[in-house]
Amino acid sequence: MKLFPIFTDLKGRRVLVVGGGAVAERKVRSLLAAGADVVAGAPAFTPALLELAREAPITLLQEAFRPEWLEGVWLAVAATDDRDLNGRIAQLAEQKRLFINVVDDPELSSFQVPSIVDRSPLTIAISSSGAAPVLARRLRERIEAMFDHSLGALAALAALHRGAIRRLRPGLQRRREFYDWLLDGPVSSALGAQRFDDAERALLDELSKPEKTAAGEVLLVGAGPGDPGLLTLKALRALNEADVILYDRLVSDEVLDLARRDAERVFVGKTPGEDHHATQTRIHELMREHALAGRRVLRLKGGDAFVFGRGGEELEYLAAHGIPYRVVPGLTAGLACTAYAGIPLTHRTHAQSVRFLTAHSSKQDDALDWPSLAREKQTLVFYMGVSQIKWLERQLLTHGRSGDTPFSLIENGTRAGQRTLTGRLSELAALATYHGFQAPSLLVVGEVAALGPRLSWYGTHIDHLEATQHEQRQRPPRQETRAFLHA
Ligand code: SAH
Repeated sequence: MKLFPIFTDLKGRRVLVVGGGAVAERKVRSLLAAGADVVAGAPAFTPALLELAREAPITLLQEAFRPEWLEGVWLAVAATDDRDLNGRIAQLAEQKRLFINVVDDPELSSFQVPSIVDRSPLTIAISSSGAAPVLARRLRERIEAMFDHSLGALAALAALHRGAIRRLRPGLQRRREFYDWLLDGPVSSALGAQRFDDAERALLDELSKPEKTAAGEVLLVGAGPGDPGLLTLKALRALNEADVILYDRLVSDEVLDLARRDAERVFVGKTPGEDHHATQTRIHELMREHALAGRRVLRLKGGDAFVFGRGGEELEYLAAHGIPYRVVPGLTAGLACTAYAGIPLTHRTHAQSVRFLTAHSSKQDDALDWPSLAREKQTLVFYMGVSQIKWLERQLLTHGRSGDTPFSLIENGTRAGQRTLTGRLSELAALATYHGFQAPSLLVVGEVAALGPRLSWYGTHIDHLEATQHEQRQRPPRQETRAFLHA
């Protein structure tokens, strides 16, 4: 975060504006709206500023800038059209540890004024940290359109009855539900229709109803492979409503960032040295504890919870303990990472079927039907494959799949830094090692993988398919093309 956003209370506090033109006038007006005690200094002022000074509590200093003006002020704004002067004011302010905004000059400013959507007392502030003010303004326009002006009245009404709301809905969760109802229900509609008395009556009626007892539940939600744009609307909603989030290693930071700020986040991925059974027991107990305490528990998993995600075991546990649950499917890596690598899973000429598999390299756990996997014109998608890659290659070759079969290995699929490696099965392990592919990586084996280099549109693609064995000896082994980021 380049700038730390804050909302300041300027009521009765002295703020200096240096400048007397149209820009200074705009700044003076918005500072006055916040109740600041404004001092404006410049050799000359616009007629409107002179007029304003007659009715509003502002002091005009009609002379050239003097350093003493900075004494005793809380904030300063430099709005002159003289960059050298602005620079000098900024330097003096810096020495005094005074926050200063130089209008349209992020370099000289120690604070910036965001674009604002004003639904007072609700205020939405947007900043691009000076990087793209136009973008921030465009965003502001969109947000303006999203929220009806009655939102301000809603916030004011809630403020008026805040004490009663706190008293009659003492539990945080019930209170949150009440506010949801306030936003979505009859109070908001009445305010939209300018019926203030109806709105207030509806609010008080609802408050007077007895509080329902809290019942916790667990939402088992697939978070997709990483790109937060691939979340479902239901997953997003669950992130907004959760009290506690139990999440795994594969859940991306970008997804977690969308969760309610005050939700408790608990990492429940496997810790070093812990076996699967212990991890799972720990997760079960946490889900139960929190749900019985009446919380909304979000069990968040990478991809889809029912695809190599132990979601089934977790639901069996919840069902056995009578804990209510819901399930929100997510985009599994096999669907999403391949789409981002330009690999269609089925294709009229190349593959009539697709299988999602996971490999266990120990003999006693291996229940896969290798001879059937070795048949051509089918797509195999291996999860958790990187550590087993040598063994996977050997198994497929031993059972008769051609060494020429194309493969694709997708690392960090759908995330920043996605890399895709395409080559032939006989070189799978060697190439993966050479290019240092690591978890999380998804392995696709089958004729469709050959389409990847051509249809690639996201991240980096390393292609070893085009080169024959002979050519490869001549050329350097690494050919990377960077597709433009469309997402
Ligand atoms: N439930 C998850 C899979 C969990 S198994 C899902 O539906 O996607 C973990 C394996 O999934 C990883 O070892 C890797 O093979 C694959 N995987 C998950 N996310 C991935 C990503 N963003 N990029 C590449 N592979 C991924």
